[in-house]
Amino acid sequence: MRILIAEDDQVLADGLMRALRGAGAVVDHVANGTEADAALMINTELDLLILDLGLPKMNGLEVLKRLRGRGSALPVLILTAADSVDERVKGLDYGADDYMAKPFSLQELEARVRALVRRGMGAGSSLIRHGPLVYDQTGRVATIDGKMVELSARELGLLEVLLQRTGRLVSKDQLVDRLCEWGEEVSNNAIEVYVHRLRKKIEKGPIRIATVRGLGYCLEKIAP
Ligand code: CA
Repeated sequence: MRILIAEDDQVLADGLMRALRGAGAVVDHVANGTEADAALMINTELDLLILDLGLPKMNGLEVLKRLRGRGSALPVLILTAADSVDERVKGLDYGADDYMAKPFSLQELEARVRALVRRGMGAGSSLIRHGPLVYDQTGRVATIDGKMVELSARELGLLEVLLQRTGRLVSKDQLVDRLCEWGEEVSNNAIEVYVHRLRKKIEKGPIRIATVRGLGYCLEKIAP
């Protein structure tokens, strides 16, 4: 999952990034409202925005209002000061999906993040089934016929993206966007290498990642 954090408290932002990366997310960070607004206009591959309402330059409510004004349904978790019931209500009215009042436990935040991302993808459960392959998005574990498949963090990320779009073409550019944080240099060749490694580990029985030449990849549907 790919997450943008808009938070001007650097210590809190660092803690959030560490926790979410530890949980397997690809995370980027902006520290003011105008940067958040700009980032949201160009990043279409996000799964979640964690938005502090008290941001410099443009406040979080304005960022949220503009995001929803562009018709985006991106799940948004707002962070508010503990005593600001008013802000929280406004945030929800402006289209936030959930909120957390500071200070909060990182454990609870992670659970809410998982729930929001799942809901955003239209999945009630954290398990994705694909023929004999079962992927647990919470535990980040893949099994085939009940046997665990050993995958690197990148391979897991790749598998997740393909599973979430089974039967649809995923371009190499989309994969770079999904798997890499800003400033990370990952070439299309590197993506080919990850796909090659993932194939060797999961292409068993009916599971197949098709290459669409010059365009990208597609995890082929399996007839039920
Ligand atoms: Ca703040």
